[in-house]
Amino acid sequence: MAMSKLSEPIRRGACPICAKPLVDKFRPFCSRRCADVDLNRWLSGVYALPAVEAEGEVESAPTQAVPPHGPE
Ligand SMILES: [Zn+2]
Repeated sequence: MAMSKLSEPIRRGACPICAKPLVDKFRPFCSRRCADVDLNRWLSGVYALPAVEAEGEVESAPTQAVPPHGPE
């Protein structure tokens, strides 16, 4: 059973950003622009989480000798 046809240009996937055919060089996107878009989405989503956790993980400085006086 020999495959008569070589792998046809099957749609292996599409750019998750604009749904265009993928470009090998920019996989899994179709262009660098789309890769950038996805990266930005990813970063904004990631940065949103640590931002909250960071507050509770601030180096508990034992020397809090800052009097609660208003700003001069
Ligand atoms: Zn794209």
